[in-house]
Amino acid sequence: MKLIKSITSMQKISRILRKNRKTIGFVPTMGYLHEGHLSLVKRAVRDCDITVMSIYVNPLQFGPSEDFKSYPRDLKRDMSLAKSAGADYIFLPSNKQMYPSQCLTSVEVTGISRVLCGVSRPGHFKGVTTVVAKLFNVVSPDMAYFGQKDAQQSILIQKMVKDLNLPLKVKVLPIIRESDGLAMSSRNAYLTSAQRKVAVLLYKSLQQAKAQISQGERNPRKIVQRMKRLISESKFATIDYINIVDADDLSEKKKIKGRVLIALAVFIGKVRLIDNVIIRV
Ligand code: AMP
Repeated sequence: MKLIKSITSMQKISRILRKNRKTIGFVPTMGYLHEGHLSLVKRAVRDCDITVMSIYVNPLQFGPSEDFKSYPRDLKRDMSLAKSAGADYIFLPSNKQMYPSQCLTSVEVTGISRVLCGVSRPGHFKGVTTVVAKLFNVVSPDMAYFGQKDAQQSILIQKMVKDLNLPLKVKVLPIIRESDGLAMSSRNAYLTSAQRKVAVLLYKSLQQAKAQISQGERNPRKIVQRMKRLISESKFATIDYINIVDADDLSEKKKIKGRVLIALAVFIGKVRLIDNVIIRV
């Protein structure tokens, strides 16, 4: 596995690979890897000749009061995990490489970036789509892999790829969870052991919603109400949002019907966690 730090080197490698008719699978991450990230790498290794993983904590997608500075980083551990999952290249650009001067150009998917996480994190998705578009231009992948964990992000990326006719396919893979159901996340490392126990409430509330729907409940308001009640049992938990939306266009659902996305963001102490489930009714 090779570590590449410069954009020109990465572009050169991709050009040569493509010239030699090798397919490139790409897994963009912010590092501090866990099994969720590695599931994407393993799938890329299966599907493609060459797998590139990027590790870049993108300042553009963090708000001024968010955790950009404290975001967990451990390159040595990441390198060994990525290698054991089968990655061929780690692309690790510096901020200077990515944003050498003030970036006057951005890529924004409008509308659907303003709901769910977009409400409490204004500018976040503009930062995400801008950096992912740049990374796509650097790596030139045939396939790019994203996790269902960030459901809204993967919908936005798919829309960006379609709207801009980017020549690659996007694959969205299932959420990998801890044994108690908590969705794996680099941010779980922030949790104290008491908070960690409570964090499972996100998953439990989604399971409860799923059960209610399978018992015939079709009123989203009632489902959200019960989820709120469950999560509010913990003094550590502050709900940012719980929403039930159309899984394709993120529009609010008045009735549970078709493919619905139940998505939530909850602060456990100061740690903001997200989770979701897609249900087909
Ligand atoms: P991040 O490093 O958090 O930006 O995540 C990089 C990629 O890994 C994104 O496509 C995420 O959706 C995906 N990912 C993060 N956590 C999980 C998980 N628990 N299961 C599956 N994919 C995940």
